[in-house]
Amino acid sequence: MEVQREPQCPVYRKCGGCQLQNLSYERQLQWKQDRCRKLLGQFGKIEPILGMEHPYHYRNKVQAAFAWDKRGGKIISGVYQSGTHWVVPVDSCLTEDKKADEIIVSVRKLLKAFKLRPYDEDTGRGLLRHVLVKRGFGTGELMVVLVTGTPVFTAKRHFVEELLKLHPEITTIVQNVNDTRTSMVLGRRESTLYGPGYITDILCGCKFRISPRSFYQINPVQTELLYGKAMEYAELSGTEKVLDAYCGIGTIGLVAAKSGAGSVLGVELNRDAVKDAITNARENGVKNIYFTCADAGEFMADAAIEGEHFDTVFLDPPRAGASEEFLGALCSLAPKKAVYISCNPETLARDLRFLQANHYKVQKIQPVDMFPHTQHIELVCLLSRL
Ligand code: SAH
Repeated sequence: MEVQREPQCPVYRKCGGCQLQNLSYERQLQWKQDRCRKLLGQFGKIEPILGMEHPYHYRNKVQAAFAWDKRGGKIISGVYQSGTHWVVPVDSCLTEDKKADEIIVSVRKLLKAFKLRPYDEDTGRGLLRHVLVKRGFGTGELMVVLVTGTPVFTAKRHFVEELLKLHPEITTIVQNVNDTRTSMVLGRRESTLYGPGYITDILCGCKFRISPRSFYQINPVQTELLYGKAMEYAELSGTEKVLDAYCGIGTIGLVAAKSGAGSVLGVELNRDAVKDAITNARENGVKNIYFTCADAGEFMADAAIEGEHFDTVFLDPPRAGASEEFLGALCSLAPKKAVYISCNPETLARDLRFLQANHYKVQKIQPVDMFPHTQHIELVCLLSRL
């Protein structure tokens, strides 16, 4: 087996995004398996990680920062050098969708042709900060988000026309205005320059609407495996009252509602995502699902006080894991099953320790490789109440 290898990417070191690229894919999977064993082995057997058959160009969401090169003469686009605000030029990436990369290069060429400037963080002058491209792998729909430092975008109609001539496959173009001095890519203001302002994708047989700002899993091939495992673990029989906590645009909840839940309630903090979730339910003709916009921890605490009942809880929190408020309330609500989907084995270990100390037993732990070449690990874990 090939173990160490020369990283394939010329900016491997500067970018820092693919920490494991110096390992063969087989070794990467072994590295992740070992890490899961070390962090989570105390809770039970770790199933063998589910890897990808073609672990390249899997990302359906690509973003690039725009800047002048260090000499100031040329516009560049790419990623921030790790830990800095220097842009490392990148035209194509092994993990990113190829079409998205091509569009970003076209935008850069058009900037020059239109004599437009990249935004300068120090002076606050110039126009373009970032370009974000999202692609529905299941539908082919393509969204381009032009993130500008000011709302004023002269010649935007003409710019959009030219971009569409180069890439007629683009289905929507959005301008997002970010005039803040933060490292967040997207600002709050948005206007649609072309098309409906969102794309639709198909995942696990359901249609999903994706807005510029709502979360959507970035590797749809592996997401189908991940959600498939989550449903297998939940063993829904047609009657269960299900909670989908940290539900985003409702992906897990909708799949659950279609595959045997009696009813589903989704809880999510991001307003845009909740709107998308409600639309998604309607578009899929799913009637047994409801959504609420709230902090998951506060919602759970209230539900516990009011003596609500859930049979099965799916939770899919961000990297920080679930809050103690959430876990405490979960234990008092006492669902028979919890299916925990995690993108961080460290916070998962912390949260499993809490649940194990409060009448839950870890039954199964399944890692899924959602982010080949990076050190990130996704897992799904089944817990049952003792
Ligand atoms: N289950 C979804 C989204 C998972 S990502 C999917 O698979 O697509 C985590 C989600 O948690 C994001 O949508 C984020 O907006 C949301 N979130 C973050 N903090 C939250 C909180 N305190 N309460 C509720 N939702 C939160």
